[in-house]
Amino acid sequence: MSQKFKNIRRRNVHIEDIIEETLNVKTILFRDKFCQLAKPGQYVMIWIPGIDEIPMSISVRNRLSLSGVTVEQVGEATEELFKKTLGDIIGIRGPFGNWFQPNTGNVALVSGGTGIASLFPLIETLIKTSAKIVAVLGFKSLKEIIFLNRIRKLLSDKRYHRIIVTTEDGSYGQKGLATDVVSSLLKKETFKMIYTCGPELMMRRVFDLAEESRTHIQVCLERIIRCSVGLCGSCFIGEYRVCKEGLVLSSEQLRQVKDEFGTFKRDFNGVKMHFKTTH
Ligand SMILES: Cc1cc2nc3c(=O)[nH]c(=O)nc-3n(C[C@H](O)[C@H](O)[C@H](O)COP(=O)(O)OP(=O)(O)OC[C@H]3O[C@@H](n4cnc5c(N)ncnc54)[C@H](O)[C@@H]3O)c2cc1C
Repeated sequence: MSQKFKNIRRRNVHIEDIIEETLNVKTILFRDKFCQLAKPGQYVMIWIPGIDEIPMSISVRNRLSLSGVTVEQVGEATEELFKKTLGDIIGIRGPFGNWFQPNTGNVALVSGGTGIASLFPLIETLIKTSAKIVAVLGFKSLKEIIFLNRIRKLLSDKRYHRIIVTTEDGSYGQKGLATDVVSSLLKKETFKMIYTCGPELMMRRVFDLAEESRTHIQVCLERIIRCSVGLCGSCFIGEYRVCKEGLVLSSEQLRQVKDEFGTFKRDFNGVKMHFKTTH
């Protein structure tokens, strides 16, 4: 097998560290030479022996030569991953997908919930390239806040960078949605690029606001991903296989899939279905 395709093969790795982020979010760290070279926005397939294989964004690279994923417990596979302890084995395939393109001008980042896990490696890159970074981090409540201290450390130079936290219930930061902040920001400031990751309906709103203000955007999409190599078709949005041509789509690509983005998703059988209208 050529070097290029070696990352597709599963490697078994030991869990070397676990960070308890909140009651139902953990960061799981392991050693893997391919993940060490991952670009911001890429993801891996995590095999949980005897249970399932699921997609997870790479949230940590190079922490004492470890890489990591930040897992929210939502169902059977993530629950099993949560039960794992130091030394346990998980399988890794990847990294897969394209990645965020860093911009050297003023940029805004917008995250919803655990979406910040995927944006964190990007912040580590942008800090070296961008003039000003405004990070808008949306959470449901104080209990769900993750990565804030790490981001504060990175963006500690307040002359250039700003962090705005929102919670839906007002238990921390500004009360409301991250998209409310983006809406008022774009009336006062200009950005060369907006980067966003989180629930698709949130990202659709950010895309619409970016379009209104003629700001370029890069969106990190999450669709049902099963094969991760572009074969099964369960992650299609328009003509794009999110697992391969994504996860990151640009303004131009999103305009082409405007009718599906935030409106339709696909189920495990690839059947198109509406997003819930309540959100
Ligand atoms: C590219 C990508 C990156 C992701 N990164 C993260 C991450 O960094 N942290 C994190 O906590 N979660 C992430 N997810 C979501 C994570 O894959 C699902 O939460 C997980 O697969 C749920 O499995 P489960 O068996 O625990 O729950 P289930 O009960 O099987 O599913 C719960 C919900 O999770 C979603 N889901 C289930 N299986 C998949 C799948 N194969 N692909 C996509 N969504 C699925 C569905 O919306 C489903 O309704 C990512 C998903 C994608 C596509």
